[in-house]
Amino acid sequence: MTKTVGVAGAANAARGSPAIIRRERCRLCDSNQLEPALSLTATPPANAFTTSSEAALAQQRYPLDVHRCGACGHAQLLDVVDPAALFEDYVYVSGTSPAFVAHLEAYAGRAIDTVGLVAGDHVLEIGSNDGTLLGFFKNAGMRVTGVDPARAIAESASASSIPTINGFFTESLARDIAAQHGPAKLVCANNVCAHIDNLAAVVRAVSACLSGDGQFWLEVSYLLDVVDKGLFDTIYHEHLDYHRVEPLVRFFARHDLCVWDVERIASHGGSIRVKVCRAGARQVTPAVGQCVAAEQAARLHLAEGFASWQARIDALGLALGEKLHELTGAGLRGAGYGAPAKATTLMFQFGLDASSIEYIVDDSPWKQGLYSPGIGLPVVAGDYLKSNPADFLVVLAWNFATPIIRNNAWFTERGGRFVVPLPRLEIV
Ligand SMILES: [Zn+2]
Repeated sequence: MTKTVGVAGAANAARGSPAIIRRERCRLCDSNQLEPALSLTATPPANAFTTSSEAALAQQRYPLDVHRCGACGHAQLLDVVDPAALFEDYVYVSGTSPAFVAHLEAYAGRAIDTVGLVAGDHVLEIGSNDGTLLGFFKNAGMRVTGVDPARAIAESASASSIPTINGFFTESLARDIAAQHGPAKLVCANNVCAHIDNLAAVVRAVSACLSGDGQFWLEVSYLLDVVDKGLFDTIYHEHLDYHRVEPLVRFFARHDLCVWDVERIASHGGSIRVKVCRAGARQVTPAVGQCVAAEQAARLHLAEGFASWQARIDALGLALGEKLHELTGAGLRGAGYGAPAKATTLMFQFGLDASSIEYIVDDSPWKQGLYSPGIGLPVVAGDYLKSNPADFLVVLAWNFATPIIRNNAWFTERGGRFVVPLPRLEIV
């Protein structure tokens, strides 16, 4: 969902609270030895902005607890919010930056070389979004098929000549695609696998349409980076899985597939590109073992790695709470800056509400005029800050703190302070 800005609130409000199911078994190995590993404050769906403050405050909240599988070590949410409510009504906004397009072009070039794709080969993408990536394969002469559950996105991609099937990627759909267009030599899934509750079914579907010498490439956020860099706010209901290499190796082996290479990449604060082939088809590179060793050194295969992470998050929350108490106690007025999905996790976990911040500034016109999920703070445009001045701004989109502070130099010149909550508390 890298390129999609989603505001699902209005549709959800009309429909009522989305359903939730509780999973009892590990998403990767089917074991029932699941232990709570990291407990965060319950929230509504992170992108469920509403049309009134009252509606936000009335929203249902869902548990946000990461569990660790005692058998394979995989970290995952067990409380699964209905994916139809989270993804089908995504409003498509073309947010594809030139840098991101260049990244996708480079990805296609690399895949063509590594997999040995030639003109006429079939490339399939799961979660193909607006078809930008498939367009590069098409330009290189390959036949392409996209699959995406978001209706508006699939329709717009098909209209722009990237054949895109609107739906979830199932085994029967994969068989139909293979029957119609031939087996795929490359199946790719970027930033979608962590959203899928039944990952085993998707991998069976991949296997059903992959050619004998074909490869499956997936990109997911890397738990090692998430923990190392303190990115706990990437935990929200859309992200069901927090992947690392060791459990994935075992998972694919059970499907007669092999993780033959892993690359660590910079996307989303740190991700892995996992390359999978049929068992025995390629030699496994040393990168796979290197990742597993780094994960074990960080104790992420054990409960203690999560316990120390929880302690760090709790300490940060306390420090931020004390700082905000001090500022508001001195009569200062606060606001938030940035309303990305992850701000929902951050605000609930650190207790940020109307008692410390009055509104949230966000540059996306799609969110302005709406209210933050569960807490009901109004989302406003930057101009509002000038007419209703705050004394301090909590940077909720903290990964963009540097450009936000630079672009709002007038605010600090006027004596305003920026409170950057993560990765460590800083006051600018
Ligand atoms: Zn497991």
